[in-house]
Amino acid sequence: MLDVTTISCVAVAFAAGFTAAWMLLGIRIRSACLRPEGARGATTPVRSLDEARRRELESLSREHVLARRIVEERLGRFERMFASFPDPILVLDRHGEVVDANPAARSLAGLESEADPIDAVHPRSLEVMIGDRATVRDLLEHVRAVVAGGADAVRTAEFELESHGSDTEEARTRAFEAMVRTLDDHGRTILVMHDTTRERDSSRLKSEFVAKASHELRTPLSSIHASLEMLADGDLQDQAQRTEFLEIAMEETGRLAKLVNDMLDISGIEAGVARPHMAQVDLAEIATDVVEGLRAAADRRSVDLRLHVQPGLLVEGDAEMLSAVVGNLVGNGLKYVPEGERVTVTVDAEDLTRSVVVTVTDTGLGIPPEDLDRVFDKFYRIKRYERNARGTGLGLNLCRNIVEQVHHGRIGVDSRLGEGARFWFSVPASHPASMAA
Ligand code: ADP
Repeated sequence: MLDVTTISCVAVAFAAGFTAAWMLLGIRIRSACLRPEGARGATTPVRSLDEARRRELESLSREHVLARRIVEERLGRFERMFASFPDPILVLDRHGEVVDANPAARSLAGLESEADPIDAVHPRSLEVMIGDRATVRDLLEHVRAVVAGGADAVRTAEFELESHGSDTEEARTRAFEAMVRTLDDHGRTILVMHDTTRERDSSRLKSEFVAKASHELRTPLSSIHASLEMLADGDLQDQAQRTEFLEIAMEETGRLAKLVNDMLDISGIEAGVARPHMAQVDLAEIATDVVEGLRAAADRRSVDLRLHVQPGLLVEGDAEMLSAVVGNLVGNGLKYVPEGERVTVTVDAEDLTRSVVVTVTDTGLGIPPEDLDRVFDKFYRIKRYERNARGTGLGLNLCRNIVEQVHHGRIGVDSRLGEGARFWFSVPASHPASMAA
């Protein structure tokens, strides 16, 4: 990834190279034209003098053509680089007016049409290009300092700009790190704006993750602490009460361990350090085992847990991870359906995409439309269901990571509020035998 310093160095180097080439060419031609005739040999006969001058002029003309080609080639290369930089680059005159802008800068200003020339004849104010008045004021301060500072002056600045996308896109801010430096000795400066929005967003996400994780860890920790404190005080005479507090501490410790394990699993996959044990695994077998393991829990809540599998559906995958995905989806089905409802697990081959699809459909509460996109986010829990069941909000995010990152599959949910939910995931089938005949 090019940083703002590299981009501005390349741009300045090309501009300097271009100027130097033209200067050399000019000096060469001028010196040839101004050289007095005597200096070329006063004793030469007129005829051979003409001949010598003709040759010299021919040679000069060839050099001129060659030098011109070199300059044009360099200029073309520079223009292509200038045009292809994804970051906005502006050239400013000594008064801070914009006299050149690459397409990224033009697009930032909404001046993408060719009918909007930006050059020394049609300069634009920095405010037209950047929009935000306070930022422009700040940048112009830097431009003035660089012009006053001479050849090696460099200034950097960081700022955010409101970006208005298309009508359907919501307005968002873009972060930039800008560098202003001298371009030539006519007081022109170059302003390179490096888009740091992604870096900013990812560091915000990290901070949010740490904040949410700490918040989630605090709840079970406080319960454990309170329970242990009660036990340590020795005030609890009754054995039944002591057992109750011990059970709370045990349950909360389990919750804490699950939270930490889920977080470790998710970050391991996201960081690319998870080492899955890939093998030919039968998803129908995995689903059957998971369903049988959860049957007792379903019975306790009088949930009708059904299973429809097509046997022998092989995929290349990590059995433990895939089992965790099915377990999470079925477990959620059991948690979020009222007593007496139904959860159905199916495993089928999907011919069109040559994949195996696992579907967990329940007849429970369903998911409000505004939450559909978000239930796979880290720590996301639907507010109105928080009382129905305890959870961490990490289960579905872990499922998504396992399916998409580790198995290159797809995961999704369809639901209507009050009409149950249908969670599904698909993994590429690894063997023709696993496809429907
Ligand atoms: P949790 O530990 O909270 O269950 P998940 O990541 O597994 O975390 O699920 C995120 C949220 O999605 C849940 O808190 C719940 O609000 C919602 N959800 C998941 N499965 C269902 C379902 N079958 N029916 C309704 N809501 C569900």
